[in-house]
Amino acid sequence: MQGFTHAQGPLRVVFGRGDRSRAGEEVARLGCERALVLSTPGRAATAEEVRGHLGGRAVATFDGARRHTPVEVTETALEVLRDARADCVVAVGGGSTTGLGKALAARTGVAQVVIPTTYAGSEVTEVLGETIGGVKTTRRGPEILPEVVIYDPELTDSLPVSLSVTSGLNAMAHASEGVYAGDSTPLTTLIALEGLRALRDALTGLTGVQGTGEHAREDAHRDARDHALYGAWLCGLVLGGVSMSIHHKLCHTLGAALDLPHAETHAVLLPHTTAFVEQALPEALAPVGALFGGSAGAGLHTFAASLGAPTRLADLGVDDGDLDDVATLATANPYWSPRPFTRDDVRALLQRAWEGVL
Ligand code: NAD
Repeated sequence: MQGFTHAQGPLRVVFGRGDRSRAGEEVARLGCERALVLSTPGRAATAEEVRGHLGGRAVATFDGARRHTPVEVTETALEVLRDARADCVVAVGGGSTTGLGKALAARTGVAQVVIPTTYAGSEVTEVLGETIGGVKTTRRGPEILPEVVIYDPELTDSLPVSLSVTSGLNAMAHASEGVYAGDSTPLTTLIALEGLRALRDALTGLTGVQGTGEHAREDAHRDARDHALYGAWLCGLVLGGVSMSIHHKLCHTLGAALDLPHAETHAVLLPHTTAFVEQALPEALAPVGALFGGSAGAGLHTFAASLGAPTRLADLGVDDGDLDDVATLATANPYWSPRPFTRDDVRALLQRAWEGVL
């Protein structure tokens, strides 16, 4: 067995239907008294409800979070935080809202309670991506990791199925890439495989919920939602625990260069990057293949298609004339990959993803 170093952040997780009502208790447990509640405009009503659960501990709301954490939004929120003399943030939403909470914590040291409403996984990582002048930069550090996460699957019941599928595949990409990470440990691999299994079953259930009666359907739906969020937590832990490589690098390059939606880009690329690595490391990816039937890349391809996920970059509005530049950008700075590659390899991979053919 190879040696390893495994580190786990000091993070508290509360999981349960309706547990957003425990937000006040968790804020108090942190020793905080003045919470700023954060959301995107789309989640403002949920944030308002959570504010109610905070009672006198809520001092302000900011519902202007935007995707890719633009610094100008952070600066506006920072003013609200300072004016309200907040000592913690309660972030209610997807990765965009979590990102804003992390950006505020990185600047002021305030504590964070995150209540996720998608499967992005950012809430359990000490990574912050911010956009400054249209350029996304990433930093990491212990001050960025939220102190508490409340997973309340009830809040994901409203997530449209198509968004649940792409967000779930985004989470699965963290786990799939974690399996072949250079710094994986036996525990991160176990967590990754359990996360993939949970999301596989949950997304299959969610897209094909059938039953003889309404109650049976509702129960199956709830069960699928619970397991999807459980899987998202596990996949997020993998993202936070090990280094990502070719898949995340390509998604970030594509997303930033062509302003593509985050989760959909991950969903389209996942089978292609996995198949590419699998050719060099079939043994490492064999457990993933076993979960999806056959090989990992082809299995994930069939799985994503069966869920109705977008399977072609062309579906996301990408012009194949842009792929040359993306390949050049993605290979401009060398980075670790389990399978070494050239610019031509990446260009060919992008072409396959554009066509949706493995
Ligand atoms: P998001 O937070 O932008 O949410 C996507 C959309 O879904 C938004 O329009 C939102 O209003 C809506 N939405 C959210 N929850 C909903 C619900 N329950 N019901 C209905 N609609 C809902 O997107 P995301 O995919 O959650 O996160 C993507 C962002 O997170 C990106 O900026 C990405 O870079 C970042 N991210 C960061 C990390 C990290 O570790 N730093 C990890 C993963 C993602």
